[in-house]
Parts: sequence; structure tokens; C-alpha cells
Amino acid sequence: MPKRIYSFGGGKAEGSKDMKDVLGGKGAGLAEMSNIGIPVPPGFTITTDVCAEFSRAGKKLPRGLDAELRAALKKVEALTGKGFGDPSNPLLVSVRSGARVSMPGMMDTVLNLGLNDATVEGLAVRSGNPRFAWDSYRRFVAMFGDVVLGMKPERKEDLDPFEVILDAKKHARGARFDSELPVDALRELVGEFKAEIRRRLGVAFPDDPAEQLRESVAAVFRSWDNDRAIAYRRMNGIPSEWGTAVTVQSMVFGNMGDDSGTGVAFTRNPANGANEFYGEFLVNAQGEDVVAGTRTPQKISELEARWPEIAGQLSEVRSRLERHNREMQDIEFTIERGRLYVLQTRTGKRTGLAAVRIAVEMAEARLLSKEEALLRVEPEALNHLLRPVFDAERKAAAVKGGKLLAKGLPAGPGAASGRLVFFAEDAEAWRARGETVLLARHETSPEDIRGMAAAEGFLTAFGGMTSHAALVARQMGKVAIVGCEVLRFDYHARRMIVSTPAGERTFAEGEWISIDGTAGEVIEGRLETRPSEVLQVVVERSRDPKDAPTYQLFAKLLSWADQVRRLKVRANADQPDQATTAVALGAQGIGLCRTEHMFFGEEKIGPMREMIVAETEPDRRRALAKLLPLQREDFRGLFIAMAGRPVTIRTLDPPLHEFLPHDDAGIAELARATGRSVEKIRERVAELAESNPMLGHRGCRLGISYPEITEMQARAIFEAAIDALEQGAKVEPEVMIPLVGTRKELDHQTTVVRRVAEEVFAERGKKVRYLVGTMIEVPRGAITAGEIARTAEFFSFGTNDLTQTTFGLSRDDTGPVLRSYLDKDIYAVDPFVSIDRDGVGGLMRIAVAAGRATRPGMKLGICGEHGGDPSSVVFCHEIGLDYVSCSPFRLPIARLAAAQAALREAAAKAKAKGARARPAKRNGNGVHVRSGKAARTRRVRAVRARA
Ligand code: PEP
Ligand code: MG
Repeated sequence: MPKRIYSFGGGKAEGSKDMKDVLGGKGAGLAEMSNIGIPVPPGFTITTDVCAEFSRAGKKLPRGLDAELRAALKKVEALTGKGFGDPSNPLLVSVRSGARVSMPGMMDTVLNLGLNDATVEGLAVRSGNPRFAWDSYRRFVAMFGDVVLGMKPERKEDLDPFEVILDAKKHARGARFDSELPVDALRELVGEFKAEIRRRLGVAFPDDPAEQLRESVAAVFRSWDNDRAIAYRRMNGIPSEWGTAVTVQSMVFGNMGDDSGTGVAFTRNPANGANEFYGEFLVNAQGEDVVAGTRTPQKISELEARWPEIAGQLSEVRSRLERHNREMQDIEFTIERGRLYVLQTRTGKRTGLAAVRIAVEMAEARLLSKEEALLRVEPEALNHLLRPVFDAERKAAAVKGGKLLAKGLPAGPGAASGRLVFFAEDAEAWRARGETVLLARHETSPEDIRGMAAAEGFLTAFGGMTSHAALVARQMGKVAIVGCEVLRFDYHARRMIVSTPAGERTFAEGEWISIDGTAGEVIEGRLETRPSEVLQVVVERSRDPKDAPTYQLFAKLLSWADQVRRLKVRANADQPDQATTAVALGAQGIGLCRTEHMFFGEEKIGPMREMIVAETEPDRRRALAKLLPLQREDFRGLFIAMAGRPVTIRTLDPPLHEFLPHDDAGIAELARATGRSVEKIRERVAELAESNPMLGHRGCRLGISYPEITEMQARAIFEAAIDALEQGAKVEPEVMIPLVGTRKELDHQTTVVRRVAEEVFAERGKKVRYLVGTMIEVPRGAITAGEIARTAEFFSFGTNDLTQTTFGLSRDDTGPVLRSYLDKDIYAVDPFVSIDRDGVGGLMRIAVAAGRATRPGMKLGICGEHGGDPSSVVFCHEIGLDYVSCSPFRLPIARLAAAQAALREAAAKAKAKGARARPAKRNGNGVHVRSGKAARTRRVRAVRARA
């Protein structure tokens, strides 16, 4: 039977930091800290496999676990000299969740376990502090009642039921803070909590510590499947099979008096990445007080003045843990009567900006190799560096005009304006109807996770930089201000009250508020935003790169990425200005110009409509002749902007009726312009209507029915190419035929394109090199790709349509299906966002192999939306595509994802090679390195394994 429980403590451990899969991040971190001699309270971790057993057995703890728990507890008792359930010297434990990757606050925790009416007396005597003992006991009963027994508020406007009783007690005793309640009041609270549990739930609070432990372990396992954990997993692509480990650890107490305390700290600043010790602590408090953000803590820099010796030890712990893990750490610590304990270390969550800065600076300090630095940054994190900021002048004007309402802690950089909502559910509902919202609350809790995802940003009155709202903001890349103490909330009246020097101001739900998450400033009203510093440098060119530190980090990391990636990146762009932006963000070509987007311009839609309603070929040609110069001009602009990089232009794709007016005024206007009657136009509109337009008269079918459309587009492309050539630009056009399912379709269109090319070349007395290829976006096209490749010179996977047609699921009508499928775990992720590797990906593999079998070295790319999705980019690397094409602003993400794919592949190869050469001795790690000028020749160099 596999080992179910791993013990740690007393300077050694059964596990290690490499066992995150089995012990969870927390369990592995504690084991490692024990092994390297950091002071950790002893305990043990129940593995993630037990979580799986628990689920399989219908949410029951496996048989035999009890005996193993007893044995593990014995070891903790031996190390601490205390007894579990011993009334004279009780051992108390915490029971915490811990998955492979941290899911902050999403699952449950129980603290102070082991207390009952007998052990509380023992604790009071041993600690010499009855107040502390009873305070711990009332906290335990409330936590157990909430987490294990499920006693929660009944309605969203209600407060926590235990808080209500606590508040009443404080009121009755004239106490402002919990800490002012005397022992007898705490004793009464324990009784009242238990009575309320019995009244509401009809069950008794269990006195037996063994039963408390069993139930708590089960509750933590159950919490793997609570709503917020499921939502969080879905947002972060964490598989539900992973499960959580449970760590049971002896308690140390930060609430034993003024020589005790507790805190959390990051080894570097998690908001901006600066190399400074960053954290917070509270005197005479328990850990949950800091994390829950219900008391605003002191800065870690103030620790030195209060407890210089502890500050020194902690600073030593900081550098040891960071050097040992070679990663920014998030540490939880407790000081019990002047003695420091570290309760947890894990990889710290950080903003996208901090992620980039930490990776680059650690590489420059040689703590990491560049390759490792590249692997440390989530590609999506780069989005954070592209997010808008407020226009500096407008913000200054607003501040000058007295609109600065408040200041708080800058927890999530960036700028956001939105309408105020006070409940997470409302944020979701408002967002669903198209509103831009800011979620403002006294504090947030893990229950709010979906609403937080829906909001542009959050604003809280309470809590510090490690509060829930701050953690979530960093992770989701949201704009956030926390700990803004001048705010108060009247949830019932749905109002936010701000105390300003000029008096109180009230803001109702729905009013506009702006937050600057970089400066921590709350501003009244709606404020314009401006592009980020990076975009100001590369796109607007309004800022000098030398004065743009964020840009420099961004550029450095991406230059490293460009050295190792094999996949090229192209952009989906239809206009010259988009193409310029794309080049600035690293595009090596255009992978998809959707020509139909060019027809929506004011001067083009008229002739386009004339063309569509034409009933004869001559009429159609007359309208097309008006479109030709306009289209040619667009293409020329694209060729010039791309300066010799390949430009893939797709012939007309969408169903024609999409271009037609459907309202009376539009129809009348079209009738007037074409000299036809309104009835005639209506008839034509009705004629073009389709039941399933996505599967109807679209794609190459249009060009086959009306070859003159393809002719006009081909002529525009080749004339523009020669115009650009004559202006001194290099050109590399690639004409792409959409929605091809049979070779004959492509043959038909290719013949038209090549004939027109020859005509233009003859007329202009010049030639350009060009390719004609096809999109692979219907299953038949993929399956018969070998045959299609006889004609096609390149393939580009249109994975939007390929997903639609493979699943038989309309891309326009996915909403209700996706919601229910994701909820029921039928789809792990939205297949329109991330490539379905088995189905759609399977077809792609077939097409890649068959295409290249017919046409060795054939150029292959992807231009569906998946081209900018990191996991899909990795897949495209794996199946050997030459490039991915995505929207311009996703290019940095695609560049980094492509680099990571190359690094991981090289590492896997080196490992396999190392395993063959030196069986089971060393696991290798490798990188692709571009050798000098020979950009195409790469070598794989093994680098030191640092698992
Ligand atoms: C596709 O189908 O993936 C594609 C890129 O084409 P469109 O989205 O324009 O149909
Ligand atoms: Mg398509």
C-alpha cells in the first residue's frame, strides 16, 4: 500500500520539496524547511492520493487511516512533549489544505483543533494565560462550526452567524475590539456558539479530539470540491484529479500576549518585483487575522524596532529560503513568546510586472539561468505589462478638481474605471449584461471569486497587501486597491460612504469610480485610460525607452525568448496601423488578413452591397470594379508596413448577407443607390438568408459561385504588391483560400488566382514571388490534406472553424452549452480558447503528416484564436508548425509561450538522452540556442539540471 502520511519536524522530514504532487506545495515546503533546519512546528501531511481515495469512496475517509493518524500524532506528541486530548498538557493542531499549486484561500483550514471543555483548562494552566486559552477555544468552535459543520450566513446581506454573536457580546460588554473581552465573556461565547450550532444544525459540537480531527480532515478534502475551488481551478486550468493534501501541524500561538505575533512576508515585493523584504505582521494575533485582512497590520520594516533579534532571524530565513528555492517565497511565520517559527513557505504569487522583474533580476544576479528565468514567467503575465494606465494629464486635472477621494494600498497595478457594485454576484450579473464594474467591499473572501473575475478591479476598506483581495488581484492581473480605511459600506442600502477632509460623501451602486492600482488612488467618476508604458514606447513611440524601466524588463525577457524559440509568430491584422503595431510587438509576418474586415469602411460598404445584390455578372463586375482600387490601397499599405515579411491574405470568407442592411432605412438607401425597388432589395436580402450561415454559402464556396470576386481580390493583391515593390518595399504575398474541404475547390480557386497573377505581371512587366495555399478548417480538409497539398503550397489551421466543425458546435451559439459543460466538467476548458488536443488536435496532426508527406517542408501555421493561447502555442510547437498567428496584443504572450515550448522540449530530450547514457543518475535539462547568424541552425545544449 502506498505511504499515506509523511511526518516532518525536529530537523528532519520524510518528504522533500520535490514531492509537491503528493504532499502539495505546503506539505513539500514544510518537509524541506525541516530538512534544512528552519524552525518549523512538527506535523505530518496526508497525501493527495488519499484525497482521490476519499472522492472515489463517496467522500469517506479510507479504512485504516485512523490508525495511521494515531501513529503520526504519536510522533508529533514525542517532538512537542504534549498529548493530543491530554487535559493537563494538550497538543493542539491545525488542519490545512495544500494542493500542488497554491490556491490561496479557496479551500478550508481548521485551527486550534484538540480543544474541549477539559483541554481548555489545561491550556489555561500551562500557558498561565486563561484569556488566551478561552480565546483560542471560541475561535476553534466558530471555525469548526463554519468549515466542518457548514454554519454559514443564510443570505448574502447577512453577517457570519458567529460574528453576530461576537458583536452582540462586545456590545453588551462595552468592548470595541475582540481583545478587550474578558475571560468570562469568552467562556460565555463558547457556550453560545455551541448552543447556536445545536439550534441551527441540530448537532452537538464534538468534544472528542480524535473525532474533531477526522471530521476536519474530511472537511478539508471536501473543500477541494467547493464552488470557489472549482471556479478557481477552472480559471487557472488546474485538473480536478489532482486533489489536495492535508497538513496537520502542531499549533504555535501568536496570540499569547504582547511578546507574540504573526505575519506573512514575501522575499521580494509581489506587486512590483523590487528586491526588498515585503510583508506585514500583527502583534498578539493568529495567522488568520493577517490573511483574512480583518485587522490592518504593520509593515515588516517596523519589526526591527519592536523585536530586533526576531527581525534578524527572519531576514536570515528570507535569504536562505529564497536561495534554497531559487524563487521568490511567500512565508508565514509566528512568534510565540519571543520564539520564531516558520509555518509555511511557498512560491509567492505576484503580479505580471513583478513576475517579469523577478525573473530578469534573478537571472542577472545569476541565481537563475536565462532559460530558467523564461520558464518562470507565465505567458499570460505579460498582459499585465500591456494594460492601460490613466492619462496623466486627465488624472492630474481630476485630482486638482477635488476628485481624489481616498488613498489605499496599491495591490494590483494598472488603471480601471467602472460602475460600483458591492456584491460579487452583482458583479457577475452586471458584467453578463455588458456593464463595466468595479467591486467595492469592506473586504473580499474566497466566496467572491467569480465576481472578482467579472470586475475590472476591486476596492476594499480593510486588509493589507497580503489580504485576500490583494492576492487575487495579483493573480488574476486585476487592478486593485485594498486597506482604504476611509471607506464604509452600507450593504443593505447599497451605498459606499467615504470620509473625506471635507466631510462624508456617499456613492450609490452603479456610480462610476476610477482606481489607480499603481498609486493606490481612488478617484470619483470615469477617467480615460492610456496605453501602458510598454505600448507608449513600442506602439505610440511617445516615450523614450531609456526612461521606461518596465519596457526594458519586458524587452529583455522577450529578447531572451526570441533566442530560444523555434516557432515564428505572426499577427492577424487587416489594416496598416494594426500591422505596424504587430511589427512593434514582434510579428514576423501577417498570418491572416481577413479581407472582409476591409469592406466595412464607409466608402466600401456601398459598392460591396451593390455587388451582393447584383443579379447578373456584368452588374457584379461593375460594383467590383469600384472596390478594386480601395482594396488595392489597403493591401499596399499592409505590404509597406510589413516591409518584406510574409503577408497572408485570405479571399472573402463570410456569408454575403452579413454585409447587407436589415433595417428599413438601410434597405431604402441601398435601393436608391442601386436604382432598384425596395421590394427587390428585400427579396434579395431574404434570398441570401440562411438557416445555418456558418455552414452555408461562405468561404471558398463564394469564390466558386462568383469567381469574379476572387478575381478582383487577386488583382488587388498583385497590383498592390507591384505598387509596393515599385515604392522600394520587398513583398511576400501568400494568397489563402478559406474553408476548403476538397482538392477540387482549391484547384478551382488557385486557377483563378494564378491566371490573374499572370495577367497582372504581364500588364505591369514585373513579377513577384507568391504562394497559394489554403486554410485547413473543416475536418474533410484535414483528413484529405495529403491530396489537398498537391495544390496547396501552405496550410494555415483555422482552428475557430475547425473546432466548430469538429465538435459540431456553432461558434456563435456556444454560451449555454459551454456554461453547462464547464460546470459539469464535461469540457475541462473552452475548446474555442484552448485547442482540444485529442479531437481538433488529432485532425491537425493528421493534416501535418499528410501535407508534409506530399510536400516535404511545406509551410504550416495556425491563424485561429488559439494562436495566442499559451497552451495551444505549446501544442503547435509539438506538432511541428512553423508559426502561430494571433492578434497583435497577444504576440508577446505567443513569443514567450513558444520559447517555453522549445525549452521544455529540449529539456525532455536531454533528460531522455541522459537517462540512456547514465541510467538513473542525472536528469538533464536543455535549451535551444541560436548559433550566431545561422538563425536556422540550432543546437541543443544540455544545461545543469536544476529540478
Ligand atoms: C478560423 O476559422 O480559425 C479563422 C481564422 O477564420 P475565421 O475566424 O475568420 O473564420
Ligand atoms: Mg474560419
